[in-house]
Amino acid sequence: MHTFEFIRPADAAAAVATAAQAKTAQQGADVRFLAGGTTLVDLMKLNVETPARVIDVNRLPLDKVEATADGGLKIGATVRNSDLAHHPTVQRDYAVLSQALLSGASAQLRNMATTAGNLLQRTRCMYFRDTAMPCNKREPGTGCPAITGSNRTLAVLGTSEHCIATNPSDMCVAMAALEATIHVQGPKGPRAIPFGDFYLLPGSTPNRETVLEPGDLVTHITLPQARPGSKQVYLKLRDRASYEFALASAAVVITIAGGNVTHARIALGGVGTKPWRSPEAEAALTGKPANAATFRKTGEAAMRHAKPQSENGFKIELAKRCLAHALQIATTG
Ligand SMILES: Cc1cc2nc3c(=O)[nH]c(=O)nc-3n(C[C@H](O)[C@H](O)[C@H](O)COP(=O)(O)OP(=O)(O)OC[C@H]3O[C@@H](n4cnc5c(N)ncnc54)[C@H](O)[C@@H]3O)c2cc1C
Ligand code: SF4
Repeated sequence: MHTFEFIRPADAAAAVATAAQAKTAQQGADVRFLAGGTTLVDLMKLNVETPARVIDVNRLPLDKVEATADGGLKIGATVRNSDLAHHPTVQRDYAVLSQALLSGASAQLRNMATTAGNLLQRTRCMYFRDTAMPCNKREPGTGCPAITGSNRTLAVLGTSEHCIATNPSDMCVAMAALEATIHVQGPKGPRAIPFGDFYLLPGSTPNRETVLEPGDLVTHITLPQARPGSKQVYLKLRDRASYEFALASAAVVITIAGGNVTHARIALGGVGTKPWRSPEAEAALTGKPANAATFRKTGEAAMRHAKPQSENGFKIELAKRCLAHALQIATTG
């Protein structure tokens, strides 16, 4: 393992000032924030990440879950995934988030993993994690061996000819459906980024995954007030029942009146290059009867633009069924 300088800043301003000296934004940068370490330290051991300076954010006062004045929720960047999943307000009003968090990793990992770290976890593409292999995301311009190689677990939505890596997060799929906002403190001050604007499609620059700039510290995430009476489900399909990433998952937040869907927010996991909010699915549901035929059409709409690779075509049908089943559970469960 390479050597690095370990820094414990006194406050967020000091953390931002140090991180702002990085040449690039956080992911892949030479100066890095460290939260739970379950992604970063993992990748440092593999020499995929080789920061010269590591800034420990764990002592910053960013570990609270609080109600906001407008009836929503403010979640600090260092709140542990397990604490967030078991928070009474999250369990009552944002059940989809609690379910998504509890479906991820293992109990031990969730005790370490933080809200901001989860947002910024890296892909599990095997070529990305192996420095003996080329990878456009790790080393721009070297190529994407996954396209002609092993791609069973990789993405079918949002891919490019340069990268087809899946975003692996469960939490983020629920955050997308809940229309979260990410709050950042940067060298130029604070800013709020709607969840849908935070992640970038790979395009020709898969090494750049988010809109974060050098020095940007995620301080907290806010959720809008929960919709009264909304039904929420996170359904995750994977190769084994626990300690495994999603092959396909669906986060569903819907409201029904008189047998019809009156409001829907839908996001998919395991199939997209970013946590995949689906306006197509939302349009297919809204105003329609809440029944199996509508749910099947919703799945079709969500996957209409999917592009299979050599080994992952099965994900398209899997994701359709996953979404339809999640809607069925939400409306009957
Ligand atoms: C074996 C294994 C299985 C897993 N299974 C799943 C799964 O099924 N589902 C799932 O969703 N996840 C899974 N994970 C991933 C896990 O959820 C993430 O590793 C975790 O959420 C990362 O959080 P962390 O606090 O440990 O981040 P760290 O490793 O500390 O940091 C991750 C990244 O975030 C950056 N960062 C951290 N805090 C901030 C901040 N405040 N501002 C800006 N940047 C910041 C770091 O610089 C780094 O780039 C698994 C991980 C492992 C090791
Ligand atoms: S899919 Fe992306 S992460 Fe995987 S090898 Fe290709 S460029 Fe690298």
